[in-house]
Amino acid sequence: MLEINGKIDIKSLLPEELETLLRELGQPGYRAGQLFSWLSRGCGDWDEMTNLPRSLRAALQERCFLSAPRVLRRQESQEDGTIKFLWEFADGNAVETVVMRYHYGNTVCISSQVGCRQGCAFCASAIGGKVRDLLPSEMLDEVLFSEKESGLPISHIVLMGIGEPLDNFDNVMRFLELINHPKGRNIGMRHISLSTCGLLERFDDLAARDLQLTLSVSLHAPDDETRSRLMPANRGRSVDALFEKCREYYERTGRRISFEYAMIDGVNDSPRQARELARRVRPLEAHVNLIPLNHVEERSFQPSSPDNLKRFVDILTRNGVNVTVRRRLGSDVDASCGQLRRKTVKVEQ
Ligand code: SAH
Repeated sequence: MLEINGKIDIKSLLPEELETLLRELGQPGYRAGQLFSWLSRGCGDWDEMTNLPRSLRAALQERCFLSAPRVLRRQESQEDGTIKFLWEFADGNAVETVVMRYHYGNTVCISSQVGCRQGCAFCASAIGGKVRDLLPSEMLDEVLFSEKESGLPISHIVLMGIGEPLDNFDNVMRFLELINHPKGRNIGMRHISLSTCGLLERFDDLAARDLQLTLSVSLHAPDDETRSRLMPANRGRSVDALFEKCREYYERTGRRISFEYAMIDGVNDSPRQARELARRVRPLEAHVNLIPLNHVEERSFQPSSPDNLKRFVDILTRNGVNVTVRRRLGSDVDASCGQLRRKTVKVEQ
């Protein structure tokens, strides 16, 4: 069982596990539903659980850890209403969560780790490496408290914040079970995307779960030379191996993969790379999301010019690839990976 400060991390428990815990305390099973309902609404205080007997609350408090994350910073974009939160958890570590308003619903982008050990050359989260994994309860809190603090009902989740979700596999899977649970927050798997730098040895485990979520693969280059330069995760894995695994994943799950591609001036935006990208993704009937690179202070890379971006899109389209250019939301609030955490919390270089 997961613990915080030597106590059971109660928000990481599923209803059946709460039931076992409550039975140990001599309580009837139906109490588990009441408790899970409080926890799924982001309750961070035992005193609020007024339909549970006071003696039970005291017994739970003795054995279990319950808290609410603290808002360290909140920034709201003047341009598009994107809200970025910097949350502090019980041990003083902080991560970012972004709430974006799309026409199909409000989407929360959550972090899965404190820091990241994947070391992508253009990414702010990689600076300083990984500090620790987030617990399922902490990812849940990112969603529930972003909703509470912003007042915006959340319908979609993307695991595209700080960290590599597949490097924190078990906790991420448990978080998905919690947030998707019909007795809990009940956010549909088809409204959830999980983004990975391509830890392909985990794809089979993910496919075996048979979830209906969308898998996003951060590709950023269709050739090994460029990809290994940008993404250390490609070294020892290769683009061929990644696409082979993507093909297997698509065949097993029937879920189309979406590829993320940050357009970097003079690095990955040539016509040759566009044609190579098209050749690789077409058989997968996959979607390509082009993202103009967000410039990160500590990094030398620059976004592609509008002309190069347009040329790249044209080549993909002509080659039958389904492509979108992602709008840059919240660029006035440092809303790309790890930027706010870096500015606020001292991260070792
Ligand atoms: N580790 C996961 C999820 C976190 S990053 C992954 O690699 O997919 C979410 C997305 O933002 C990834 O596609 C990542 O490559 C991209 N990204 C990181 N830094 C960026 C930047 N400066 N500009 C544009 N996209 C960036």
